[in-house]
Amino acid sequence: MARNFTYTALVLRARPSGESNREVTFLTAEEGLIRATVFGGPKSRLRAHAALYHEGRLWIYRDPVKGYMKVTDFDVHAWRPGIRELYERAMAAQAVAETVLAAQGGGGGWEAALSLTANALDALDKADEAACRRAVIQFLWNWAEFLGQRPELDKCASCACEAPGDGLLWYSLRDGTVLCPSCAALPAGYPVQEGAWETAGYLPAGPGVRRWLAAVQGQTPVLAGRFTLDKAAEREAKALVTAVLAGALGKRLSTWEF
Ligand SMILES: [Zn+2]
Repeated sequence: MARNFTYTALVLRARPSGESNREVTFLTAEEGLIRATVFGGPKSRLRAHAALYHEGRLWIYRDPVKGYMKVTDFDVHAWRPGIRELYERAMAAQAVAETVLAAQGGGGGWEAALSLTANALDALDKADEAACRRAVIQFLWNWAEFLGQRPELDKCASCACEAPGDGLLWYSLRDGTVLCPSCAALPAGYPVQEGAWETAGYLPAGPGVRRWLAAVQGQTPVLAGRFTLDKAAEREAKALVTAVLAGALGKRLSTWEF
């Protein structure tokens, strides 16, 4: 029976375990999420390597009797030291990692899950504060697409009318679909009175946000930095994508509130 396995792996979570060990959750290209123990105190080389957001070749020993998994080596190719240098980067990276963990790694297509996650972390490694927020919004949108949960943004889900490019649509929190103003029985244009729509169960999907989301969809976050998004549109985009993912995951994550 084979007991040693190798993976292409990225560290998403690392927690103390026992006196001097660490329990590490990896996203792997081969099997999705796997959890393994790293033995060794604070000075161990392996422990330093198996740290948050590091990515590389992972060697695992599986004990067939006791059922535990142990990290035997981790050859890091991507260290992403920049994430630790800025609070906003660390918070944004945590939002990305916790989203992937909450979705059980995406439930399949592990290689694509790993590359989406790694691309977002690469962007965060060098991002300034504003780019961090945009990179997370973009990651969440692409992750919703990856989960097959991304709503159509250019037509009404009820009457199928094409949305005018400069028109306002409404995202229904109940159905997870986008509706035209007449199907949603809500106003057709800006300004929208802040907060009033949420009690009716809707979030606005304005033209600027729809254009931005369409432009960054499927792109790496580095490229997304070229598309501008003002503060109000950024808030609107974040509310929309987190609502879409909350619907997909069945809960809101506290790490989205950065
Ligand atoms: Zn309609």
